[in-house]
Amino acid sequence: MRDESVGIYLHVPFCERVCPYCDFAVVAARPLARDVEDRYVAALLAELAARSADFEGLWLASIYLGGGTPGLLHPDSVARLVDAVRSTFPAGAEAPEVTLEANPSSVERSRLAAFRRAGVNRLSVGIQSFEDAVLKRLGRAHRAVEGHAFLTAAREAAFVNVSLDLIVAVPDQTSAQLEADLDAVVAHGPEHVSVYGLTVEDGTPYARGVASGVLRLPDEERAAGMLERVPRRLAEAGIEAYEISSFARPGFESVHNRRYWERRPVLGLGMGAWSVEPRGPSAPHGARQHNPRDLRGYLERVEAGLPAAANGREVLAPATARGEAVFLALRTRTGLQAAAFTAEFGAAPRAFFAGPIREARAAGLLEESPGGDLRLTARGRMLSDTVFAGFVEGPFD
Ligand code: SF4
Repeated sequence: MRDESVGIYLHVPFCERVCPYCDFAVVAARPLARDVEDRYVAALLAELAARSADFEGLWLASIYLGGGTPGLLHPDSVARLVDAVRSTFPAGAEAPEVTLEANPSSVERSRLAAFRRAGVNRLSVGIQSFEDAVLKRLGRAHRAVEGHAFLTAAREAAFVNVSLDLIVAVPDQTSAQLEADLDAVVAHGPEHVSVYGLTVEDGTPYARGVASGVLRLPDEERAAGMLERVPRRLAEAGIEAYEISSFARPGFESVHNRRYWERRPVLGLGMGAWSVEPRGPSAPHGARQHNPRDLRGYLERVEAGLPAAANGREVLAPATARGEAVFLALRTRTGLQAAAFTAEFGAAPRAFFAGPIREARAAGLLEESPGGDLRLTARGRMLSDTVFAGFVEGPFD
């Protein structure tokens, strides 16, 4: 067994309906027909068998069923997937974290105990808000009462690691609504919370609503003010920020999500999934590939025995890898460790990014230790995109 781990991401693209702001790889399926589900699960299993050799010998740290809405799968499908992954990769010293994303629908709620028996030990729940007006504005399929019922049912089904997602800075959202959301989060006592400012992606119905003036987003200052409120309120309840959008009680930081910020291997399976391959002689900074975002294209390629990723793999160039190493590490509370960066790239961050570091420090967005370690300030976390752009567009070789 190699002294390195792997996380497995299984993308399940089906959703009861597509939310108007969503830009993920999703397909409307209401309800999800059993034959469609079985065909898709068979493709995931075939892809797992075909791709696992690239990650051979790595021990299994995490399985993440994301989407889409993986909670729409029947528990026996989830069990087949979890069992197949667990029998493909050797176990580590600790049991793998097995996360399932779910939405607070009654169908998914009725399956919670069976998901637990299928091997899921962490739930990530798409709550988004406990305010009906906000949920309606987001075009979500559920209402607050279902969100509360789902979280209660998760505890009854013996889930002791529950994460919930919250969206902030929604059109017309008031400060009082945000405070009520934060109160409800704290009252449920989740182990983990992910908080996102609403982003409007081109091509979505939301983008058209904003362009036509039907939807009014809060201005930047107001949105930042709302987002700023979140870490303080959650910290008072013992749920601490460990990444820009992620908050957890000590010991409940997401094992799987940390892999992306730490640039560790992830085998991504399913429509639109990304993989990050381990570093090796032919790819000293790693390689990645992504699957097609259309369901038919994905299924046809896998069923024909072809690699799902039609565009092949991208071996990361040193300049690309350096920029990513900086901005992914800066997302975390730990920040960028200069020694680890130097070990991989042969020189300290300053040797490549003196300009962006100087500018971000002068603007009060970045802290630099005497040894060259870098960390975002509280203000930098609010304006992280501005800081990251400096490193992505920095001097390349
Ligand atoms: S439930 Fe989530 S993944 Fe599905 S459409 Fe809505 S935002 Fe997108």
